[in-house]
Amino acid sequence: MSENKFSTGVSNVNISGIRKLFEAAGPNAINLGIGEPDFDTPDNIKKAAIQAINDGFTGYTAGLGIPELRNAICGKLDRENHISVKPNEVMVTSGASEALYISLSALVSPGDEVLIPNPGFLAYNSIVKLLNGKDVSVSLKEDLTLDINDVLEKITPKTKAVILNSPGNPTGAVSSKADVKALAEIADDKNITIISDEVYEYFIYEGEHVSPAQFSDNVVTINALSKSYAMTGWRVGYLAAKENYVGQILKVHQYLQACANSIAQKAAVEALVGPQDSVVQMKNEFKNRRDVLVKGLNDIGLPCVMPKGAFYAFPEIKECDKAAETLLKNDVVVTPGTAFGANGKDHIRISYAASMDDIKKALVIMENVL
Ligand code: PLP
Repeated sequence: MSENKFSTGVSNVNISGIRKLFEAAGPNAINLGIGEPDFDTPDNIKKAAIQAINDGFTGYTAGLGIPELRNAICGKLDRENHISVKPNEVMVTSGASEALYISLSALVSPGDEVLIPNPGFLAYNSIVKLLNGKDVSVSLKEDLTLDINDVLEKITPKTKAVILNSPGNPTGAVSSKADVKALAEIADDKNITIISDEVYEYFIYEGEHVSPAQFSDNVVTINALSKSYAMTGWRVGYLAAKENYVGQILKVHQYLQACANSIAQKAAVEALVGPQDSVVQMKNEFKNRRDVLVKGLNDIGLPCVMPKGAFYAFPEIKECDKAAETLLKNDVVVTPGTAFGANGKDHIRISYAASMDDIKKALVIMENVL
């Protein structure tokens, strides 16, 4: 077993499928398993953090986050997402992970059901299980977006929430405006809450990002600077929702985190209000890599729906666990679809948050060994 930056060194914990693979990878492996941008945080953002340290901005902040940042988030949501919220309806969190956890904690009592895309980001199921709720799978359509008809079918009197993740992990699929609107109508009709995880919002190559909160008040919008600004380690994310939700969620947040990292909050203000050219550069680079990867996969006989967003391709392959193992033995790390739920079994997830060079080398290896 090799040491890498994700190694826990703890034996009695059932680490996630993705991290397990990383632990088994050799030191020279091409890593197409990782879900974080392979870019450095832009300089203007780093400078803002250094300034915050030099200014002694190192204490607790308001539980909801510093007003400057909440105002910047309100402006962003209004401008880009057509969501109108007041600063006291925004909470700055320790990444999207915390926002997901505290939102579900506030909503789910033991026995409550949460509808979760399958395959989907693995944290959703784990959090619901930790809360003694029931995770109920919703299928994806052929284009790998959430099947709204299946959502309707799975709703019971115990359903509390439904997760929407567009652009999606592990699929890269982007839900259509019509589907997002239909989901918002269902949420209103059935009185359930949409947890809208929008962390890949800035990486959309075709189509548009649509936030359900522009159509319904029964939505908790979750986002983070982690992916958008190459800030995964800074741990700064946020949620926005109507005040009644935020009040409940704050009860969990105030004991879990007290507040988000003060320095990262200052840096996040600069990220949101400063120049956006690095986001555009990252997005263009991801698109180039996606085009090469998806063409390469289709050429070698691994059919792949064109992912319209995020930085993942989700090609079809039989016996995905075996395929991922074979690739691992040949120094290419990918993630078997089963890591994202049983319905992912005929797929592997390939992250293209890796250099073009690595992607091209990996395609050659895939062609040879699969
Ligand atoms: N939501 C999705 C869909 C993700 O893929 C990830 C990270 O991979 C997260 C949330 C967690 O984001 P953060 O690093 O901001 O906690």
